[in-house]
Amino acid sequence: MLQQTVVATVIPYFDKFLRRYPTIQHLAAAPLDDVLGQWAGLGYYARARNLHACAQAVTALGAFPRDLAGLRLLPGIGPYTAAAIAAIAFGIPALPVDGNIERVASRIFGITDPLPAGRPAIGRAAARLLEDPAARTHPGDFAQALFDLGAGICTPRTPSCARCPWLGACAGQAAGIAATLPARQPKTARPHRTGTAYVLLDAADDVLLIRRPPHGLLGGMLALPESPPAAADWRDAGAISHIFTHFSLALGVRAARVAVLPAAALRAPAATAPLPTVMRKALNAGLALLTC
Ligand code: SF4
Repeated sequence: MLQQTVVATVIPYFDKFLRRYPTIQHLAAAPLDDVLGQWAGLGYYARARNLHACAQAVTALGAFPRDLAGLRLLPGIGPYTAAAIAAIAFGIPALPVDGNIERVASRIFGITDPLPAGRPAIGRAAARLLEDPAARTHPGDFAQALFDLGAGICTPRTPSCARCPWLGACAGQAAGIAATLPARQPKTARPHRTGTAYVLLDAADDVLLIRRPPHGLLGGMLALPESPPAAADWRDAGAISHIFTHFSLALGVRAARVAVLPAAALRAPAATAPLPTVMRKALNAGLALLTC
């Protein structure tokens, strides 16, 4: 849940999620649509699908695998998460290389290869930190200590080297280039896309919705239709914009009210429909026009 967001935003989602699915078995038994509804507003919806599939896989196995290779076979578990579970939950010598550890390792070993191409070299260097016998004996503590070092001392712009236990053994600090590491390739401009969202309300303020295809952008989530779902007096409700990781999106919003929605249409109360943030923005634009 914490990907690309902050703890304060996630806490209410996390609490609600755990109340609804207190065990892995509860999560595994829940319908996917229900899980996606709980996730609505957090973004990166593939994580919700993977979490659900992972819960089903772990339930079928009877427990989490206790080795890196077995963990990697679970849906949604990549190298970082597998290493984090292995080290922190099971005490297996493994190092989950997140942005903090990447920064610390690039500085300690003075690696100047720019990201993202330099990531494998930094990862190999980070793995050398795990050669220390103390790190291998307590891999979970070691990983979390490195997370904390990166978050609190070896910070991106102004590392507090005087307080660092690696001062004296840090190539980046010795060379006076620590604050510039890890180097990064210049960013390319984010592509821009456009589209239209249609807000169709009935007399009871239910809104017509669609279910997105299971894979791809907002996969499996409820959404507003991208084309007119019925003949109606469509009016311009302005436009909204949203920034995704890989592109920016501008959506023109069209809105209309009818007495009743088409009989077979998906629907939900407009005020509480569990929608992704971009769709909630578009729905609110439509509501502003139709309810003023
Ligand atoms: S000495 Fe400075 S640059 Fe090197 S790891 Fe410590 S805080 Fe980071």
